Amino acid sequence: MTSDFSATRALFHLPEGVIYLDGNSLGPLPRAAASRIAACVTQEWGDMLIGGWNKAGWMDQPARLGDRIARLIGATPGSVVLGDTLSIKVWQALAAALELRPGRRVILSDTGNFPSDLYMADGLVRTLGAGHELRTVAPEAVGPAISDDLAVLMLTEVDYRTGRKHDMASLITRAHAAGALVVWDLAHSAGAIPVDLAGAGADFAVGCTYKYLNSGPGGPAFIYVAPHLADRVRPALSGWLGHEQPFAFDAAYRPGRGIERMRVGTPPVLQMAALEASLDIWESIDMADLRARSIELTETFIQSVEAACPTLVLASPRDPHHRGSQVSFRHPQGYAIMQALIARGVIGDFRAPDILRFGFAPLYTAPEDVTAAAAILAEIMATDAWDRPQFKTRARVT
Ligand SMILES: *Cc1c(COP(=O)(O)O)cnc(C)c1O
Repeated sequence: MTSDFSATRALFHLPEGVIYLDGNSLGPLPRAAASRIAACVTQEWGDMLIGGWNKAGWMDQPARLGDRIARLIGATPGSVVLGDTLSIKVWQALAAALELRPGRRVILSDTGNFPSDLYMADGLVRTLGAGHELRTVAPEAVGPAISDDLAVLMLTEVDYRTGRKHDMASLITRAHAAGALVVWDLAHSAGAIPVDLAGAGADFAVGCTYKYLNSGPGGPAFIYVAPHLADRVRPALSGWLGHEQPFAFDAAYRPGRGIERMRVGTPPVLQMAALEASLDIWESIDMADLRARSIELTETFIQSVEAACPTLVLASPRDPHHRGSQVSFRHPQGYAIMQALIARGVIGDFRAPDILRFGFAPLYTAPEDVTAAAAILAEIMATDAWDRPQFKTRARVT
């Protein structure tokens, strides 16, 4: 193992007394991010003013940081660019893929997909007004549902609720054999598990950076387009920064070269300063090491919780090779149990209707954190400590 996870842990700010198992929703603060953002504010924005676009390299940042993310998801340099939010990138990738399959009308996804992805697909279908159909089947039924009328298969690789992982390479092979393109959402894959987009022959992929990649709340999303498709894609969101020459201020839109055309408008410079600090940490990480450590953490958690909490039902696949880097348990009082856990310093989250969800990020979560968290959960269950009114009032964000 070349990755040193005790060294990376020291590079994150984690409040005293907290065991953080929610980095799959919002990654913690890389210590260097605070000073990196401060420098960006005072030395770049403050002193360079508009000159920062050239002098501080703000304009190249979406592609430069895209290349650093590319390494983590098995993409070649020059095939990933940052910007906007993940919902927007889902829309953009799906619109581009549909246009490459003009004779076909079916989009296939699964019922476990994140609602925003399905909402965006639904909205795009309405906007196009061309008779497209969004079809959803159970996650296990996706392979057999790939048919010859399929235009695009749109999937989230790792299920946000259960952590169940699709077999990316085999679904791509199957979809391509049927003449369809595939759009992957890597929200719970990027920085969580090894991904090999180029090796698997992926067409499009999108993901966010504020979960396992720790760019902070509101951090930009990324999009990948396979290099052989990038110059054929016609961007539906044809913003000026995706233009071949934004500063020609041409009245006619001409798409930029390759992945650059997937840019839309002004990038979030301060947020990318935070991402840069996080990617410095990722530089030392080997993804195979990350996966081995992640499996060790999730296996330990499942075994400890199942041994002590018989009323919690595992909602994640038992085989670690069929799940991402998160573990979920079901319980009818899941919300209250999670609030009781948070009150004791173990932070996970709740997903309706009954899921307690825990994310495991080897960069800052050690095996002893996992056994300590399981022990606190066991105590809460054994004493019914969750059964109090203050743990049952739902907050706006769960
Ligand atoms: C987190 C997540 C999103 C969130 O999209 P935003 O536009 O960044 O809010 C979308 N899709 C999936 C699968 C997610 O897990």
